[in-house]
Amino acid sequence: MSEAEAYDLIIVGGGPAGAASALYAKRQGLRILLVDKARFPRDKICGDALSGKAVAILHELDLLDKVRDLPGAAIDTVVFGSPDHVDTTIDLNADEHRDLLTGKVMPMKGFVIRREIFDNFLFEEARRAADTCLEGFTLKDILQEDGRVTGIVGMREGETEEYRGKLVLGCDGFNSIVSRKAGLYEHDDRHWIVALRCYYENVSDLSDQIELHFVDEVRPGYFWIFRLDNGHVNVGIGMVHDEMKRRNINLKDALDQVIGRAPFAERFKDARPLEKPVGWNLPVGSKRRKIHGNGFLILGDAAGLIDPFTGEGIGNAFYSARLAIDTAVEAIAEDNFTERFLKRYEDRLWDSLGDELKISSRMQSLGRCRPLLNFVLRKAAKNDDVRDLICGMIANAFPKKELLSPLFYLKLLFK
Ligand SMILES: Cc1cc2nc3c(=O)[nH]c(=O)nc-3n(C[C@H](O)[C@H](O)[C@H](O)COP(=O)(O)OP(=O)(O)OC[C@H]3O[C@@H](n4cnc5c(N)ncnc54)[C@H](O)[C@@H]3O)c2cc1C
Repeated sequence: MSEAEAYDLIIVGGGPAGAASALYAKRQGLRILLVDKARFPRDKICGDALSGKAVAILHELDLLDKVRDLPGAAIDTVVFGSPDHVDTTIDLNADEHRDLLTGKVMPMKGFVIRREIFDNFLFEEARRAADTCLEGFTLKDILQEDGRVTGIVGMREGETEEYRGKLVLGCDGFNSIVSRKAGLYEHDDRHWIVALRCYYENVSDLSDQIELHFVDEVRPGYFWIFRLDNGHVNVGIGMVHDEMKRRNINLKDALDQVIGRAPFAERFKDARPLEKPVGWNLPVGSKRRKIHGNGFLILGDAAGLIDPFTGEGIGNAFYSARLAIDTAVEAIAEDNFTERFLKRYEDRLWDSLGDELKISSRMQSLGRCRPLLNFVLRKAAKNDDVRDLICGMIANAFPKKELLSPLFYLKLLFK
């Protein structure tokens, strides 16, 4: 392919970050190559929950009505369980919220949709947006000329293939090859969560809710129960990697322990696992990583953007896509793909997510201290104002700067 035929954008990975990038790029008339090593539909280990930011972006992309029609469950309520088993229930129907990035006023409701279904839906939308879409293409390396990334090399059906583009987007998940080959990859145990998912049926006492229980077995971390369709339930457990290693915790044993004891044993007495628990990694945004360089940007999990407190990463992956495409359009208009120019992507992303990630990191740290976690969740269980604050955090509607102020914590004490 000659330089004139090269793509504007090469997107590596067709998960939420890559698919949303293709959809935003199409709106800007960019010439897109989208590649993924998998063939869709494919599974992705996840809690399957979509809330706040994710819903706002789906709305902006005109996909929300179609998403509502996918098999899954609507979320009306979020339950936070404290280590001493006091539940705080947040009613998502109580309010609408204005999303901080898109400015959309949205109902707070979210969804739980199996990723096999949700990602396939999104990938099919992205496939239509892309000029070329290659499944079964495994990225092996990036092409570099004069210190700038200019394309990709991968294997497809046993053959090596090369493609060139003006800008490469690394949307290839936690083990990102784009990030590795660009020399930016790092695994820092303190900013990394490990989690297991296991689908179940016949778990009792479910309603339109997702449940996050901050159990002792995996502090800081949590055990979740998210209702799906067909009476199926997404159950899982996860915790920070450094603490897991320090305490020599086996997550599978921890999961068995939690569902075998009070108060959960009664709800799981007739339950049946539908698979063996499967593990995955979550690089969390409790630290700012470098996610740009000459000719490339890194997005989503590859950029380590998962919320350290809630474990949600789809909304942040979507945000990174929106802001990466804004930058791509400017870079193409100015024919400037230097690291210096592309830094604006990272700056904008941290301007919009930085405060929230900071506060979530604080909340995660709070999870290390059992009495404090019990105190805050007990407060929230009894007090509407505290519940509203948590509600705003989930919806991405609450100005996070306020939450960063020490005054906030003082107010909390006296509520
Ligand atoms: C157990 C668990 C529970 C979670 N629960 C939630 C939740 O309830 N809600 C939520 O919002 N988030 C949750 N997350 C986080 C969420 O799953 C991720 O943040 C989200 O998938 C990030 O999207 P992404 O597009 O960046 O990466 P991914 O979804 O990982 O997509 C990356 C894509 O890149 C492709 N790829 C990888 N390597 C290559 C290669 N070499 N060549 C070509 N293609 C490649 C993969 O096939 C894949 O399709 C959870 C994560 C875990 C592990």
